[in-house]
Amino acid sequence: MIRLTEIKLPLNHAPEDLTTAITTKLKISAEQMASFVMFKRGYDARNKRNIQLIYTLDITLTDPDLTNDLLVQFESDNHVKATPDTSYKYVGEAPEDLTERPVVIGFGPCGLLAALTLAQMGFKPIIIERGNEVRQRTKDTFGFWRQRKLNTESNVQFGEGGAGTFSDGKLYSQVKDPNHYGRKVMTEFVKAGAPDEILFVSKPHIGTYKLVTMVEKMRAEIIALGGEVRFATRVDDLHITDSKVTGVTLNTGETLKTNHVVLAVGHSARDTFQMIHDKGVYVEAKPFSIGFRIEHKQSTIDQARFGDNAGNEILGAADYKLVHHCKNGRSVYSFCMCPGGTVVAAASEEGRVVTNGMSQYSRNERNANSAIVVGIDPERDYPNHPLAGIDLQRQLETLAFELGGKDYSAPAQTIGDFLKGKPDSALGDVKPSYTPGITLTDLSKALPDFAVDAIREAIPAFNKKIKGFSSDDGLLTGVETRTSSPISIKRNKEFQSINTKGLFPAGEGAGYAGGILSAGIDGIKVAEAVAKSMLNIE
Ligand code: FAD
Repeated sequence: MIRLTEIKLPLNHAPEDLTTAITTKLKISAEQMASFVMFKRGYDARNKRNIQLIYTLDITLTDPDLTNDLLVQFESDNHVKATPDTSYKYVGEAPEDLTERPVVIGFGPCGLLAALTLAQMGFKPIIIERGNEVRQRTKDTFGFWRQRKLNTESNVQFGEGGAGTFSDGKLYSQVKDPNHYGRKVMTEFVKAGAPDEILFVSKPHIGTYKLVTMVEKMRAEIIALGGEVRFATRVDDLHITDSKVTGVTLNTGETLKTNHVVLAVGHSARDTFQMIHDKGVYVEAKPFSIGFRIEHKQSTIDQARFGDNAGNEILGAADYKLVHHCKNGRSVYSFCMCPGGTVVAAASEEGRVVTNGMSQYSRNERNANSAIVVGIDPERDYPNHPLAGIDLQRQLETLAFELGGKDYSAPAQTIGDFLKGKPDSALGDVKPSYTPGITLTDLSKALPDFAVDAIREAIPAFNKKIKGFSSDDGLLTGVETRTSSPISIKRNKEFQSINTKGLFPAGEGAGYAGGILSAGIDGIKVAEAVAKSMLNIE
């Protein structure tokens, strides 16, 4: 097949225009083309009046010899190449007489893809997940959102599917992926019930409810292949002898013996981070970000980004990505933007408030939300201890709980009041979507001064890119503290901890992923590393 990239057509083009674009580009007749498939479809909306769709297309010709001729003819054209083979190839196969089973801690996207890939190779992994299976977890999470009853082991952060289960389900990432692991993640998701379009749209998303059924199907495949998943079970201890892992102890008291442990615990497993640090596993503090969730009416964002094309079905609800470098040397950026979604209560510890965002597949809630956060780093902001970032997170989340009224309401303020430094005013047109509720207050008390100054400078600057962004009516809700892991669990080129053999730190918690897709990709890479280690191959 031939892959054509950067085929640009106007937003409202006719379907047959694609065929014309292909035949014109390759200088062939329509009869010479057998078929084509869309590999990617994105858009360029920089000019609202002339929005362009941008396609990557794979073409099959009726005469295979013509494929080779055309590839030679267009050799110097970077937009005409042979379609690469993106199919997944397993690195090995477990022996029939498997004597050891790898243990995967955590059943988020990283643990899920690691376990699935190991199971598909025949390694029969044992998965330990502290939270509940996804249906019960959904009840636990809604119990917190509706009745303020927090289950510290089963919530937005913990449970089957991991942190991204109640999310926007955005499935894009900026990680380099020359081996096409992302394609395997997407293919497994489609097999489990995700819409086919995630394989070709440039910014795919699946939303919360689809994610719930998908993780159940993937769990069923792991079990059918001989794997085992234990929910509501936490790993509380790691056995290390002569710098090598020999097993784990569960909160039930049971010990599992193994020399291969995938540690895919996500960024909120603070007790587990403490435990591995106490056991001497090498851990480093790493930068993360703090800030607020911002909410606008989705129609404001659609209008600013798409003008008269707002509401177009192909474009969907508009998103944005913003960065501003401040006078005080800090950078403020938008993060985890959820078009047509809601702000969610994402706490996993009692007496603390932390926000995040989610949406359904349809993205048709009235508000757009995203985190507006300031980058912080260990050297300047939490020096002297590898786990000091966790202390800072806890301090800010406790403060938010107190500012919210100590009942899990989140502290909030309109953008207008926040920018003017005017506390305790009334809500405007943008109604808060956060449940269980918000308390209007002075949000400048919720973050360190440098962060408040930076956000106050950034919001008006963002208004130059998205008209209406700094409108008085918009709403800020606090606090965002879990944009990424506050630590990094360093690993070597065999994907093992640099000082603990057999421990494979993985995914977001270890600092090797920043989202669902990259966590899934890391899970596959780590599964391959475990398989190679168990099979003793390079
Ligand atoms: P996690 O998903 O955090 O999974 C870790 C798992 O380990 C958890 O289930 C936890 O219960 C378990 N665990 C922890 N400690 C132990 C232990 N000691 N024993 C047993 N089990 C343990 N990313 C996107 O790409 N797109 C989005 O739209 C998006 N939206 C998000 C919305 C919300 C509300 C949240 C919270 C996150 C969102 N993210 C999103 C981020 C994304 O969810 C994470 O990047 C991703 O889930 C990280 O995957 P992971 O497998 O590394 O860790």
